[in-house]
Amino acid sequence: MRIYDIIKQKRDGQKLSREQIQYFVEGYTAGEIKDYQASALLMAIFLNGFDKQETIELTEAMMNSGDVVDLSNIKGVKVDKHSTGGVGDTTTMVLAPLVASLGVPIAKMSGRGLGHTGGTIDKLESIPGFHVELSPARFADNVNRHGIAVIGQSKNIAPADKKLYALRDVTATVENISLIASSIMSKKLAAGSNGIVLDVKTGSGAFIKSVDESIQLAQAMVDIGNGMKRQTIGVITDMSQPLGMAIGNSLEVIEAIETLKGQGPSDLTELCLALGAQMAVIGGVADDVDNARQMLQDNIDNGRALDKLREFIAAQDGDDSVVEDYGRLPQAVFQHRVEAAVSGYLKSFKNEQVGVCAMLLGAGRRDMSSQIDLSAGIQLAVKIGDRVAKGDLIATLHTNDQAAIAAVERQLLASLEISQQPCAAPTLVKAIVSGSGVKKF
Ligand code: URA
Ligand code: CA
Repeated sequence: MRIYDIIKQKRDGQKLSREQIQYFVEGYTAGEIKDYQASALLMAIFLNGFDKQETIELTEAMMNSGDVVDLSNIKGVKVDKHSTGGVGDTTTMVLAPLVASLGVPIAKMSGRGLGHTGGTIDKLESIPGFHVELSPARFADNVNRHGIAVIGQSKNIAPADKKLYALRDVTATVENISLIASSIMSKKLAAGSNGIVLDVKTGSGAFIKSVDESIQLAQAMVDIGNGMKRQTIGVITDMSQPLGMAIGNSLEVIEAIETLKGQGPSDLTELCLALGAQMAVIGGVADDVDNARQMLQDNIDNGRALDKLREFIAAQDGDDSVVEDYGRLPQAVFQHRVEAAVSGYLKSFKNEQVGVCAMLLGAGRRDMSSQIDLSAGIQLAVKIGDRVAKGDLIATLHTNDQAAIAAVERQLLASLEISQQPCAAPTLVKAIVSGSGVKKF
């Protein structure tokens, strides 16, 4: 087999075989195929496309390029959740204990993440004592005993994707549905769960801005998951404004705990119920999503979900009294009020800009080597559709970097639009994509 012939075949719009796709992925990962030939093939795929079968075969080859986690020593149907990423996304911290409280085993690997704030692992590390690195034996034992464990992602998950993604990034070949779907799913499938619920974000703070394109991406990922015998569902959700009111690590931990107490922001609560209901059905503890939703709501109301969070924190050596005493979490020295400059209705956010503001306060990483300030971030006071009067509180900035405050305040005010006309709050769940089709809301 020659890489030249594979490039030529895709350039001419023909389908590649399983063996050719495997040859390319293995050869590139091993350094035998050079960047210039891999780049040419990626561009041919970008322009001429991969069909469903080629996309599955690419995913499988990338998944098998590194560790594939075996969760068979953990009892029950393991269901994982993946989010395509957004601003202020606290979902896993709520969803993992909430779904585990219904008896669906949660055996999750999470990332630290580059971005506006840290990933779930950084958030968990803001809890004093919490350990995110457990041995495989302790990880399995924790899930079998407590129904939940969350650990940092192993470094050797889908190395082929790591290398190809870096190459796509510099050759203008990122924005292709097959390439994005296979990239995300290769990592998710390597994590070993039996079922997957995908939270595909859409809107100004998301990687994909339009609902229709988000549906296409979800459809491609659902086809890959189901094609590889893992039940997969995609939920398309709004990211035109930050999720919840908190953006920043310890602020989001507090928001997650409040949500498990039944006092969380309505959009975050709604998202966790919507995703959790799908997980509960795939996990076999509920017959349908309406039932599942009620069971989840009951466990928020009766305190079982919060008890599961306490149990989870303690089982990974964390201080579970944070659940009652938020003063045990990192707190920033400076808290600065940002007030509305005019009266009106909050119409829109430049959501990515809001994320950048949180990062400038210290909440995120500029690159993988930079340190996060776990206490830094933004606590919003308003959401789209809210009426504000001049001088009302818009947000509180939390930071240890006093010098950053003035510029961030200006940037935050510039990233939201206040209109004189009333405007509606966006609906959260836009569509659900499953093996049996697309349901739009
Ligand atoms: N996220 C990924 O992991 N891969 C892509 O290709 C795009 C976003
Ligand atoms: Ca949030």
